[in-house]
Amino acid sequence: MNYEDCIAQQRHFFNTNTTKDVSFRIKELRRLRSVLQENEELLYSSIYSDFKKSKFETYTTELSIIYHDIDLAISKIKKWTKKKRVFSGLTNLPARSYIIPEPYGTILVIGAWNYPYQLSLCPAIAAISAGCTVILKPSEVPSNTASTLAKLINQNFDPNFFKVIEGGVQETTDLLKIKFDKIFFTGSVPVGKIIYQAAAKHLTPVTLELGGKSPAIITKDVNMAMTVKRLVWAKFLNAGQTCIAPDYVMVESSVHKTFLEAMKTEILNTDYQVENHNYTQIVNDKNFERLVSFLDNPDKISLGGDYNAEKRSIPPTLLTNVEFSDKIMQEEIFGPILPVLSFESIEEAITKIKKLPKPLSCYVFTKSNRIKKKVLDEISFGGGAINDAVMHFSEPRLPFGGVGDSGIGQYHGRYGFETFSHQKSILQKSFLIELNLKYSPYTKNKLKWIKRLLS
Ligand code: NAD
Repeated sequence: MNYEDCIAQQRHFFNTNTTKDVSFRIKELRRLRSVLQENEELLYSSIYSDFKKSKFETYTTELSIIYHDIDLAISKIKKWTKKKRVFSGLTNLPARSYIIPEPYGTILVIGAWNYPYQLSLCPAIAAISAGCTVILKPSEVPSNTASTLAKLINQNFDPNFFKVIEGGVQETTDLLKIKFDKIFFTGSVPVGKIIYQAAAKHLTPVTLELGGKSPAIITKDVNMAMTVKRLVWAKFLNAGQTCIAPDYVMVESSVHKTFLEAMKTEILNTDYQVENHNYTQIVNDKNFERLVSFLDNPDKISLGGDYNAEKRSIPPTLLTNVEFSDKIMQEEIFGPILPVLSFESIEEAITKIKKLPKPLSCYVFTKSNRIKKKVLDEISFGGGAINDAVMHFSEPRLPFGGVGDSGIGQYHGRYGFETFSHQKSILQKSFLIELNLKYSPYTKNKLKWIKRLLS
């Protein structure tokens, strides 16, 4: 079946109003949970064959988040779908005003490769909970993972409701020629621009979950042991291939040396070995070569720097003496290389960070309330953490999304439901009375009363 027909059939199914029934949504979400649970071993083996992601990381950073999103949606859908009463003004009394969340319709979800299950399924879960039908196009880069998703979804769901279409640039380009009611894209900034342009041709609303260079700021007063423990975990999880990983560190110059030594000790105490299921491969040769090209100056390598092309493995690597003008500071690193820069004053750090596009995340490790406030007030970023990194993603009550170059829109929990819902505003009047004030003839007396009423 061609793409036009697939989408036309989903649209037709949506128009039967089946998905508007909350019990249908709950039943389909339960189905998704059991399909995933029954096939966990296949999910683990597929992602392991793609980039050696361990069971532990697959469960903690993918499956547990998906299960949690499903459970939260199931328990809250009835509340989320309720119409919301709001106050009606004097002009319309007697009347009721309310907002009805209305599903957008037929959705296209385009996934990224780095957390291939979670970044594909969590938006789909949000769309289903809002009452939409879903075409899911996972990233083609982890090919086993993509075909497992296609197999599990397409064998267990009505394609008129939820269907996976596999493919890369060509297939996505073809899909984008068709009108959807909403497109949810996770991926890079350049491709995000392509999606936005294609959506504009149909006036299709978009959510763009993009990337960028997320900074971590470290001041001299921190608990250094805890700071480096949290930072090392956040940076080298998934071998640095995480959209909200700290991309670079800015550390107060008086503790620069202490920080570097503590980072080295922490990394060396941790077993970052693919063979031991504690570390991930770089996803493909293209990304491996891109990352290796950042390691061309041995003078700047403080730890690591060696790599294994055959295994596509790069150990945790620390760089020092890095300038904002260096190549590595011009693009998102998206790998296990961490430049450590220093600053004299928080004002200097903020000024430098703000010269780059608005990041997806920002982290500040400090005990100083003044510095926390200054960073939150003065740097615009999607979301982040104080005295931690990455973990804000695990809070389903916090909306997740970027700002500026790091994205448009947000999801997770209730915010995901709202991302796929139009807020339909209704004013409901009765036939009890009708004031004559707004009707012609427009007399001076009427204007006097209108001024009183509306002021
Ligand atoms: P990507 O932009 O290369 O690919 C994302 C999707 O777009 C894939 O499904 C791919 O098939 C499709 N695509 C690629 N080129 C296309 C084109 N020319 N036309 C149409 N579709 C195209 O991104 P990626 O390499 O999969 O992921 C890495 C990027 O995603 C990083 O920048 C990272 O920060 C970002 N990311 C963001 C989030 C987030 O939640 N904000 C999460 C994960 C990754």
